[in-house]
Amino acid sequence: MLNTPIEYLKGVGPQRADWLRDELGISTYEDLLSLYPNRYIDRSRFYKIAEINPIQAEIQLVGQITSVGIFGQKKTKRLVARLEDETGSIDLVWFKKFDVVRVFLKKDIPLMIFGRANTFQGRIQMAHPEVENLEDYRTKPPIPLHPVYPTTEKLQKRGVNNRLMVKLFQELIEELKDQIEEIFPQEMLDEYQLMDKKEALVQMHFPSALEVFSKAQYRLKFEELFFLQLTILMRKKDHQKVWTGYAFTRVGKHFYRFYREFLPFFLTDAQKRVLKEIRHDLGQPIQMNRLVQGDVGSGKTIVALMSMLVALDNGFQSCLMAPTEVLATQHHYALRKLLGPMGIQSSLLTGSTTQLARKQLRYGMESGVISILVGTHALIEEPMHFQNLGLAVIDEQHRFGVAQRAKLWKKNKKPPHVLIMTATPIPRTLAMTIYGHLDISVINELPAGRKPVKTVHRYENARLEIFGFLKNQIAQGRQAYIVYPLIEESEKINYQDLMEGYESISRAFPLPEYRVGILHGRMKSSDKEAEMRRFTRGETQIMVATTVIEVGVDVPNASVMLIESAERFGLSQLHQLRGRVGRGAAQSYCILMTSDKLSDEAYKRIQVMGRTHDGFEIAEEDLKLRGPGDLMGTRQSGILDLRIADLSKDVQIMGQARQAAVKLLEKDPELSTPDNQTIRNTFIKYHQKKIAWSKIG
Ligand code: ADP
Ligand code: MG
Repeated sequence: MLNTPIEYLKGVGPQRADWLRDELGISTYEDLLSLYPNRYIDRSRFYKIAEINPIQAEIQLVGQITSVGIFGQKKTKRLVARLEDETGSIDLVWFKKFDVVRVFLKKDIPLMIFGRANTFQGRIQMAHPEVENLEDYRTKPPIPLHPVYPTTEKLQKRGVNNRLMVKLFQELIEELKDQIEEIFPQEMLDEYQLMDKKEALVQMHFPSALEVFSKAQYRLKFEELFFLQLTILMRKKDHQKVWTGYAFTRVGKHFYRFYREFLPFFLTDAQKRVLKEIRHDLGQPIQMNRLVQGDVGSGKTIVALMSMLVALDNGFQSCLMAPTEVLATQHHYALRKLLGPMGIQSSLLTGSTTQLARKQLRYGMESGVISILVGTHALIEEPMHFQNLGLAVIDEQHRFGVAQRAKLWKKNKKPPHVLIMTATPIPRTLAMTIYGHLDISVINELPAGRKPVKTVHRYENARLEIFGFLKNQIAQGRQAYIVYPLIEESEKINYQDLMEGYESISRAFPLPEYRVGILHGRMKSSDKEAEMRRFTRGETQIMVATTVIEVGVDVPNASVMLIESAERFGLSQLHQLRGRVGRGAAQSYCILMTSDKLSDEAYKRIQVMGRTHDGFEIAEEDLKLRGPGDLMGTRQSGILDLRIADLSKDVQIMGQARQAAVKLLEKDPELSTPDNQTIRNTFIKYHQKKIAWSKIG
């Protein structure tokens, strides 16, 4: 019944069926059933004519017709009826079907009028309203909250208007009433206080009261998110079954020696906890898939390094992949510095590694002389064989696609354990979705002694004052970044901005007292590297840069982050940039420079930055401001094609739905008990096209 083609529904027919399919993607009864209203009109209330204002949505009135007449010629020909109540009068206007309308417009008896008011030549009027005898209307009053369905211009033009849609739904629900089955077992309905499926659907289309409506909405959102979570959890389970991995049972001499003799500081409790979680995973004969989320500066690198030592202790190689050459190089030097003294060999592979060096690398990799290989995309592109890759660490992964990552571990016979590190805290709903198949560790603590970065907002006209402040900081031995929005590295205008900025900054901070460096994506990588090195060593005091420095760059002596045209950056970028300072002992500053023409949204972003340093809070705000579609390319992933739930709002429901799915799979991993058959069947139906059940069940 649910699969019945929509043309068989009373009131549809083949022509309208085509339109509905083309415009709204509706082909079956079931498709129609889950086309939910956009909004509802409150039909429990009557307005007085004096209360009408033309920006209201549809409203209802009660009044009497005092006169009816036809005015105008040809195209402007219209029927106008004057409606009065005790507070005033308005005109009701029709442009066609005069004969039909006239029949309804009986004078001197109370009528119910329903429609949307507008103004015409300064007078309020209502075009093509619904009209009904008040007495008739009272005997069968409309649904109190009147649904308004999504529609398109084409449908409207062809007469498939809301009135018709409402009729179709009334028909549909009447026909399907006894066909709609409950999906969830009673136990689950009780535990999560879910409304029965049938009632929820009826209430969603024709709510009897607001309270009941919210319960219906909750139920349907829960159901949608439950199946989303069930899919993710099934995928995870499936993955673990297929991908056995190497069990690193030894935590041995390299690890402990480093810990005792070479670790330059004490680990934070959060770092210790996350390391423990990783070590636990590595010890299992299942491939690890763990995401470490830690705010900028929380010390993820050392966690990665120590995990790689566990691999080494078990006779395996590791690789560390970073999104930019600057970052890969920096990681390479950091690892060299820490591991060199222990005699552990690590090497670097980037796009600019010479052929000769590659040859040597290849030898080192295949023979196992090199224990750790750091690199960029080149790691994936170069046909390089590890002797035995046991652990792949991916830093700032949001820059790598899933497919790219898969390439990396295809090189090995068995997949290596995978550790993904990200400084982009993502909202919980998204984490549960995009990373729902991963295990997540959170480093929620910064190393001791860090002072929060002071963040201020300044307009262009404060530039002199700001430069004075920079000079003052430099006089105290500090360094500064000045960042320009070069969002698309190929955009010429942006590039010009940067170069002009660089010139004017070089004038404002002249040699020999000051030395200004520059870093952007168009530079040769050897130049980039040299600039970065000069800054790291304190030879330049100011680094003018684009967002190349956004990710991961670590210079603890830098204490000022000045962001030019800050209104052109997104929240997570601003947060990343700010994270480049505040890494040393000195008080650090983030200055957000903007023009004085700010959009509301840009202003809100700047405000958020001033208010909080918490990456998670910033991520939640970002989601609210931008909506989930934009975030992290999730639109393409298709996983977020949700009909009713909203990832920026339904965090709590998502949590409940995930919990329910986890519990269910714990009790009944194969969904084989009789109670869970409807869930199983629904699940199969949802995913018939995507996943073969045999692989899962
Ligand atoms: P991120 O998490 O942003 O990648 P990093 O790993 O680059 O952070 O670490 C930021 C800085 O903090 C580095 O200079 C690193 O040496 C230092 N650091 C990391 N852990 C600690 C710690 N437990 N105590 C003190 N400093 C630390
Ligand atoms: Mg980092």
